[in-house]
Order: sequence, then structure tokens, then C-alpha cells
Amino acid sequence: MRIPRGFSEELRNKADILQVIGDYVSCKKKGANYWACCPFHHEKTPSFSITPAKQFFKCFGCGKAGDVFAFVMEIEGCPFPEAVKIVADKCGVTIPIVSTKEDSKEFEERDRQRAELMQINQWATEFFEQNLTETAEGKRALSYLTQRGINNDTRKAFRLGYAPQSWDAMSNFLRSRGASKTQIERSGLVTLKEQGTGFYDRFRGRLVFPICDTQGRIVAFGGRIVAEGEPKYLNSPETVLYTKGQHLFGLNYSREAIRKQNYAILVEGYLDFLIPYQAGVKNLVASLGTALTENQVRLLARYVRQIIVNFDPDSAGVAATKRSLELLLAEGFKVKVLTLPDNLDPDEYIRSHGSDGYLGLLKRSQSFVDYIVEEAVKSNNQESPSGKVETINAILPYLKLIKDRIERAEHCERIADRLKIDSKLFREEFNKAVDTRSEKISERAVTATIVVKPAERKLLEILLNQASIRRQMMLQMTADDYEGLRTAHIFRLIFKLERQGREPTYPALSEELGDEDMARELLAKLMISDPGDVLEGAAIDQSRLEQVTREAAESLHSLRCTKLAEKQAALQIEINQAQRSNNSARLSELMMLKFELAKQERALAQWNGQEDKEAVKIKKQ
Ligand SMILES: [Zn+2]
Repeated sequence: MRIPRGFSEELRNKADILQVIGDYVSCKKKGANYWACCPFHHEKTPSFSITPAKQFFKCFGCGKAGDVFAFVMEIEGCPFPEAVKIVADKCGVTIPIVSTKEDSKEFEERDRQRAELMQINQWATEFFEQNLTETAEGKRALSYLTQRGINNDTRKAFRLGYAPQSWDAMSNFLRSRGASKTQIERSGLVTLKEQGTGFYDRFRGRLVFPICDTQGRIVAFGGRIVAEGEPKYLNSPETVLYTKGQHLFGLNYSREAIRKQNYAILVEGYLDFLIPYQAGVKNLVASLGTALTENQVRLLARYVRQIIVNFDPDSAGVAATKRSLELLLAEGFKVKVLTLPDNLDPDEYIRSHGSDGYLGLLKRSQSFVDYIVEEAVKSNNQESPSGKVETINAILPYLKLIKDRIERAEHCERIADRLKIDSKLFREEFNKAVDTRSEKISERAVTATIVVKPAERKLLEILLNQASIRRQMMLQMTADDYEGLRTAHIFRLIFKLERQGREPTYPALSEELGDEDMARELLAKLMISDPGDVLEGAAIDQSRLEQVTREAAESLHSLRCTKLAEKQAALQIEINQAQRSNNSARLSELMMLKFELAKQERALAQWNGQEDKEAVKIKKQ
């Protein structure tokens, strides 16, 4: 599309800059000028001025200035021709087209169809609105809205309506207004019959939410079933006005608030938008589907670069959150995640806790990394290296999207801390994965980051080399003592061989370990370093035996203490989360656990190796 020379000049003179800018920000007259809070930088007192006489705007805060087109290009993030088109639309002026004959014909035809459909959508909206308030059927839908807490002002402002349970009420209405059969067919308000002839109303027995473009023109409709039926939500199909995944519900209402607050809250559904909006939290948009699309992200980027994602906490919501995070991060957004307690969505939460409660939670939203880490930790067993591998590989794709290396390194540090792995090795492995564009970290790499604790090494050395102490120690040990350790598989094997009545010799163990090079290497080291010299045989040095036995018992005790401390640290993270989200039911559960762990801690603190010495004495007799 080419805009003829001279047209933009003409339009600039014709357009009322105050009216165009007034669509985006609220302006107040003071002297010869109008003043507003600048939409391009954050401010509380207006320094953005509009001089209608000169058709010019200037911000004394950030220095942005220009004519009506400059303003639209800046605020919509669009190129000049599109700005001209937007201004022309707002002023009700058609752009004359110059290009090839065919192009211009096609363009004119499309433009004509768009104009027709806008008119039809306008009629349809009136029809839906009337049905909601004036028919018995509609009133049931209306009472559903009332029940969900939508008041009349909101209903009217968003032009909510009702599609009656009928096959042809809509098409008859449109015909009565003068729409042709072809126009109705193209409108998306009817569904074509499979036989190819005729059509029937698309929306039946549904609450209808008009979907607008950023200019506030109704481009499509979304319908929610009122009684029983499938699907629960139904949208308009694609038309000349509507392309799926290109619009965000409510953005035409919320964009000013979004700019002012400098962040947007992304929600899923219509009510998740309407209820907070009605309660005064106005900087929201709804994705109109389960997950965000790239185009929606680009649309948002025109207005804001910071987002709090607040989807349903159910599994579909978690998946949608993750998908949205990927897209937002790829576009360079700063992203946080809010998960509401008790499985509530924003609509339910605000109805039960009010907007203040909601705003309080918004302030305490999690960084997206914490969200991803906690989701990954929840769904994998952190006690085993393979579980840690799964966890890390679930986090990796998101971590890679952080462009800032310093920020990334900080996150690596915290993740390593959370997963109890060596942070330096983890960062190296992570950077390797980024450099090689690898999607995964190997189990080997993760295992390497799990530190072999000195006590763990000591205990294994003794178990492997001292048969008499081994049997005695194994009576006291359970799987809980070694699961989660770097060497858990070696412990497991020793126990397995013991049950089979076999000695844990190097050949027996290494055969079972198979290809695990690292474990075999470690095993070899452990078997060579015999801690007690030779204790078996005729001349048993009793005091030496006692000493090694005590060392084994102390090692086990130390491992138990470390494990308990780790459990307590992990529990504390969960407690903090529950406190952050005011989840009192979960909190009291966790406090019980904390109490339980404290009890264990006291028991461990009382240990002095006495019972083990007793055991040695009994054995000696
Ligand atoms: Zn400014």
C-alpha cells in the first residue's frame, strides 16, 4: 500500500491532534495548552503538553515531541504508513490508493469488506446486548453475570451480551438490518452447513464478550456457554477483521493504565480480566486462550516491557504459564509470575479477598526463575541424581533465554544452592550447554556437580573394607541414610550384595556398576584407601577396631545431620512461599513438618555414639 503524496499533509491538517492523543491519555486544559501525564515515560505530575493550534505535542520530561503521526508511531510502535492509516481511521477519512490497478482493486475490496464487517459487528453487538437484558433466556445469563460479581456498569462498558438458543435469530436480525447473505456468511457470526448450502447461527445459548482491536473497534466475539454444552468457550473464526492470536482482550481499555503503572498483568479468561478491572486493578490483559502467541507478545511490547503472568494454578495453567514465559523472555520482557493460593484464579481471588489483597500478592510475585525452579523441583525426585538431571533440564530452556550474563550467573548460583549442587561446576556445565546450543545437561555432568561429602566417603571406605563393621553398621542404616547422596548407587549395591550373601569386592561391584565410569573410578579410590589397615585376621587390635567403628558411626551421624539440615532448609523455602501467598492451610501443614524435623534434630543432638560402643562390646563377648 502506498500513500499518495500530499495526503499525509492534508490529513495532518484535518486531524485533531487533541482528539487522537486523547484516545490514549487523559488531557486537561490549562491556558492555551492541554496537559497530560506523559505516556512515554513514568511520571505523576503532567509535563506532556499538546498545542492544538500548532497540532504539536511536546513532553518537558523526556523530550519527545512531534506531530500527530509521530505520536501514533511512538505509542503504537508502528511505521509511518500505518500511523497515517490509524489517524485516517480515527478521523473517518479514506486513504486514496496509488499502486498497480489490480493491487488497488484488491485493497479497495478488502477495505470495503472490513468496513462492512465493522458495521455488521456493531449490529451484532446491539443484538447480543438486547438479548441479554430483554429476553427471559438472556436474563438467566444476566443473573449468572451478577452472581459472578459483574455489575451493570462493567457489563455496559464492555458491551457484554447474550446469544439466544436459536439457529437463525442472529442471521434474521442482520438481514432485517440490511446485511446481504454473502456479508452474513463472511461475518463469522454464522457457521456454514456441511452440505455447502446455507448456514446457522454460530453463537447459541452463550454469554458474548466483544473482542476489540487497540482502536476499540469490535473485531470478533467470544462466547461462553451458559448452561451445559461443549465447548465451554467459542470464538469467532478468522475474518477480514480478525486473525487468531493477534488481539488481547481488554487492551483497548487497559493500555493507559498499563503505561502508567509500567507493567501489565497477564490473565487467561474474560472474567479474570473483568473482575479485577472492575475492582480497580486496571493494568491487565487477557490472552483469550490458553497460551500467549508471538503476535500478542509483540502487541504488548508496544505498551510495556514488564509482565506479571497470573494464570490458573491448574496443570493447563502451569503449561500455559511456561509457554508464555518462553515467548515473553524471547522478546526481552522482564517477567514475574503470580500463583494465587488455594487454586484460585484472579476472578475468584478478588471476589473473596478484594483488590487490596490481590495487589498485595502482586507486589510479592515470584521471579520467573523461582517459579520454573519450584515447578521443576515439585515434579522431580530431588533425592536422586537422575531426578536432579530432570530438574535442571526443565529449567535450562528458560535460563538460556536470559540475555544478561551476570543475571544468568546469579540465577545459576541460586539454583545450585536450591538443588544442593556445586555452583561452579553447574555454571560451567550450563555455559557449555548454552555455547553448544544443547538442550540438555547429561546425567554425568549433573552427578559431577553433586559433592561427595567427606563423611560419605569415610563411611563407604569402611563399609567396603571392614566386613565386621559393615554388618554392624548396616543393621542401623536405612535407605533414607544414603538416598540422595552422590554415591547412593554404591551404597545400594553394597546392600544388595549383602542380602545375596556376597562380599562387596571390587569385581562384584564394578560388574554391577556397568558403564558408570565415574562411579567405578570413585569406587577404585575408596577400595584402595583402607582406613583401618588390616583389622581382620588373628591379631585384632581391639582399640583400633573400636576407633574405626566409632568413625563409621560418626560418619553416619554426620550424614544424618546434614540431611536433616537440608530438609529443614527446603522446608523453610516452602514455608516462605506459603507465607507469601497467604496459604494458611498449607502453612499449618508445613509447620507440623517443621515441628517433626525439630524433634529429629533434638534426637540427633543427643547422640554420643554410646549405643554403638555398646554394640561393639556385645559383639566382642
Ligand atoms: Zn515524557
